This record gives sequence, C-alpha cells and structure tokens, in this order.
Amino acid sequence: MKSADVVVIGAGVIGAACAYFAATAGLRVTVLERDAIASGTSSGGEGNILVSDKEAGPELDLALYSQSVWRGELAEHARLWEFESKGGLVVAASNRSARSLALLAERQRASGIDVTDVAASDLAEYEPHLAGDLAAGAYYPQDAQVQPMLVVAHLLRLARLAGAEVHAGTQVIGFQRSGDAVTGVRTTGGTYQAGQVINAAGTWAGEIAALAGVHLPVLPRRGFVLVTQPLLQRVHHKVYAAEYVDNVASSDAGLQTSPVVESTQSGTVLIGSSRERVGFDRSFSVEVVSGIAAQAVRLFPMLASSKAMRSFLGFRPYCPDHLPVIGADPRAPGLWHACGHEGAGIGLAAGTGSLLVRSMLGDGARADASVPSIAAFAPERFEVAP
Ligand SMILES: Cc1cc2nc3c(=O)[nH]c(=O)nc-3n(C[C@H](O)[C@H](O)[C@H](O)COP(=O)(O)OP(=O)(O)OC[C@H]3O[C@@H](n4cnc5c(N)ncnc54)[C@H](O)[C@@H]3O)c2cc1C
Repeated sequence: MKSADVVVIGAGVIGAACAYFAATAGLRVTVLERDAIASGTSSGGEGNILVSDKEAGPELDLALYSQSVWRGELAEHARLWEFESKGGLVVAASNRSARSLALLAERQRASGIDVTDVAASDLAEYEPHLAGDLAAGAYYPQDAQVQPMLVVAHLLRLARLAGAEVHAGTQVIGFQRSGDAVTGVRTTGGTYQAGQVINAAGTWAGEIAALAGVHLPVLPRRGFVLVTQPLLQRVHHKVYAAEYVDNVASSDAGLQTSPVVESTQSGTVLIGSSRERVGFDRSFSVEVVSGIAAQAVRLFPMLASSKAMRSFLGFRPYCPDHLPVIGADPRAPGLWHACGHEGAGIGLAAGTGSLLVRSMLGDGARADASVPSIAAFAPERFEVAP
C-alpha cells in the first residue's frame, strides 16, 4: 500500500494550489487525477483574477487575500503562467446601470478595493476601440489575468520539485475508514493511505463527498467562450458590462449572458460569458455563442469583422450560496474540501491553497488580520438542521 501525509483528489487549479502549498510546507503529498492534469473546468474557462465582480463579504475577502498570494509568495513564478496585471474596466450602457455601477464601486471601496470611476468621455483613453455611446465605467487596477492550464502545470511541477507525486489516469473510487475517520482512498490504481485527504474534484466534488457519505451540493453551471483569430487591435484590459455582476450572483438555472472581452498575449480575443444550469450537456449551442458574439460586437464594434477561430465550454462548480467549500469536514475527520469556486476558481486558487494548508497545519486561527477566516466556507453549512 502507498502512503502520503496528504492525498489531493483532482489535478485542476485548486488541487494544484493545495498540492503546491502542502508540499512546500514539507508535507508528503500525492495528487490523484482520473484523467489528464487540467482536464476539468480549469481548461474550460478564462483566466481572470478578479476583485471587480465581487460584492463585499467573505468571497471578496478571499479574493483580496488570493491577490496578495499571487502577487506575493507566487510572484517569482508569475511569468511561467503569463500573469498580467492588466486591470479590469467595467462599462455601463445606460444611465441606470451607470448608477448601480457607481454604488457597487462605493461599497467595494469601503472593503479595500482600488476602483476609479470613469466618465463616459474618458473611456476611450482606457480602450480606444470601445463603442462611443456608453454611459460610464469603473476601472479596477487589481484585476489580472493568467493562463490557467500553465498555472496548473507549473504549480504541480513546483510541488513535485518539493517532493510531491502526481498520478494522472487514477480515479478515486472509494475511501478507507477507521470508524468515522478517513484514512485513505481506494483508486483504480490501488489504495493510498493518508492522514489527510483533500477533495479538490471541482464540479465532481459532490460525487467524491458522497463516496465519503457526506453531502455537498456542487452542481455544474455551463459557460461558453468564443476565441477570435489574432487581431491587430488589442483590448488592453478585461472589459465587461456592468450586468455581468448580477449574472454571476444569479441563482436562476436559465441562460444568462453578458459581454466579457479581453485579449490574450497571443493576440486572440476571448469573448464570454454565458451561464446556465443544464447538467453536463456538452453540446454546442449556436444560440448562446451567437448571443455573446453579438453582445461583444456591441461593446467593441471592431469585432464585427473578426473571425472566430474556435469555441469551448466548461462547467463551473456551483454551490447554491455561490460560495466555495474550504476546510475540514467534521462529519468525516481527515477529509478536507477545496471545491465549489464556481466562476472564480482560477483567481481564488492561490488563496484557497494557502488558507487550506494553513488550517491543516493549525495556523488558521492565528490573529493575523491579513489572513481571512474560512468559517463562511464550512462544508457542513448545507446540512439541514434536524
Ligand atoms: C466559461 C468559464 C469561464 C471561466 N472564467 C474564469 C475566470 O476568468 N476566472 C476564474 O477565476 N475562474 C473562471 N472560471 C471558473 C474556473 O475555471 C473554475 O472555478 C476552476 O477551474 C475550478 O477548478 P477546480 O480545480 O476546482 O476544478 P477542475 O479544474 O474541474 O479540477 C477537478 C479535477 O478533479 C478530477 N476528478 C473528478 N473526479 C475525480 C475522481 N473520482 N478521481 C480523481 N480525479 C477526479 C477532474 O477530472 C478534474 O481534473 C471559468 C469557468 C468557465 C466554465
């Protein structure tokens, strides 16, 4: 039987971040991935590290902490994953949405976000190719972008340099128990004994929890991304419509779309975003993709003559309260969860890995004001009181 201090289930961005922080803290780590690394949602989305789309509260606190980890402890590796501190520009098309955007910016400012109100007449200074009839904007210098698959690959490589093992093609099919306690996992490649097991299985984390006999309501929330051929013109920031923030927070299962546009370092333009709860349906939707393309052209008329190169989709790991699940599971001692980050898992990965490992090492409760509490992300919060 193989053994480790920590087994991480899932080699997406969250599992990779947990593995990195655990291995560099000196723990013996084994990562188990049923498919190839980054084969789940971490290769099905964009790579924004956003504070701009978050209301004040525990997710924003986590996002700000995560920012400090990306720009602090992980800064020396930033170029490996194309970290670009490009800033985000949120634009409002009507006076009504301009007022809501200004109020959101005010609340965020009070929570420590750096945000500048931008008058309609100044928008072209930020983005020369934007439509000329927008009502206002807000600029968020802290928003950044990475290439998510490079993040996964390099965090796992760095974890391996610190002694971790990574086994792709190894599916977790059950748990080993001693009474209530989790003492390891059974996989298609044998049994692994471990003092601690981290469930970082993303949108499939509810299935892993069920294998351990505990309930986690993680559901898929589908999103499409459209990619143009490389363009001569660049979009300099992450640019999105103010309505996007409401779509992110919506719990409606129906389709929501709002334009999100940004260039990548290779010159292509990524166009999103859509959200709908249709299970794990992978079929292409002309309706959704043509809808987000039309909205993007409304923001950037120059895109009307660009050619789409491809489209891809992913399934965001959605929890009903839109918060991730991070921490030890008191219902199954030895089991930890780091999942359910919905549309923000790339950005929140650095903070999640750091906080989970701190908590595992008993550092979580330190009176350090810069380290947020993970209490709001408790796994047992979905239990219905008897
Ligand atoms: C269209 C779209 C756009 C997005 N844009 C952004 C963005 O700009 N910024 C941002 O921060 N986030 C974004 N996201 C969200 C982000 O991609 C996710 O939150 C994040 O990738 C989740 O990472 P994860 O590691 O939890 O899950 P995954 O990447 O899905 O990793 C989980 C892994 O667990 C494995 N697994 C499952 N079951 C088992 C098992 N039984 N045994 C072993 N392995 C198993 C899976 O194969 C998978 O590889 C976007 C998502 C979508 C769909």
